[in-house]
Amino acid sequence: MKKLVNGLIEFQKNLRPQYTERFAELALGQKPDVLFFACSDSRVVPNLFASTEPGDLFVLRNVGNIIPPANDQGISTADESELAALEFAVMKLQVKDVVVCGHSCCGAMQALANKAMDIPPHLKSWLRHAEGATNLSEQYLTDHPPLDKADQLSLKNVLWQLEHIKSYPFVIEAIQEGRLRVHAWWFDIRSASVYGLDSEDDRFHKIDSMYGQTLLNRFFHEH
Ligand SMILES: [Zn+2]
Repeated sequence: MKKLVNGLIEFQKNLRPQYTERFAELALGQKPDVLFFACSDSRVVPNLFASTEPGDLFVLRNVGNIIPPANDQGISTADESELAALEFAVMKLQVKDVVVCGHSCCGAMQALANKAMDIPPHLKSWLRHAEGATNLSEQYLTDHPPLDKADQLSLKNVLWQLEHIKSYPFVIEAIQEGRLRVHAWWFDIRSASVYGLDSEDDRFHKIDSMYGQTLLNRFFHEH
């Protein structure tokens, strides 16, 4: 808490002046182009590793970056907050991209992978939405040694949660109409690198300047 309050003082004193115009503009409305699902873990810092500014990302974070799937009627089978965010972002804000970003050393995935016995009841119940990930096939990262059991599960969980997102009819419709893309990302804490699943070769690539440019060319025809 001390850091938090000191941070506020620091922001007011040193950083706020350079953001005055931006926030005045943002007070009139937001137009983020990405919905970013990430874990609540304190080490996952999308605003830092993706250099985003206020107004850039619509974010939902929870334990394990989990999105409960739809039932037969297209209604969330569990908590509604994830779907409220997804609906609002896709239908109202009309974001073009949804990113699900998992990460290494994830406590939730470690608990699940190691079948921990001491998981508190709500957390245990919540993690059932990630259990299906254990049945997916092994995933690999470029330029990275093989992952341990929990990190492997965390990587697979990103794919599993994307499947959950695609269980909602309004998402499928938006994808089919070319209004929406969905992306699987994974943040490796130790190397502070982000990996993204490539839809063409179905492998996770490190998003460095070279591969990042490939993505920009593909999505935006930028050179
Ligand atoms: Zn986590």
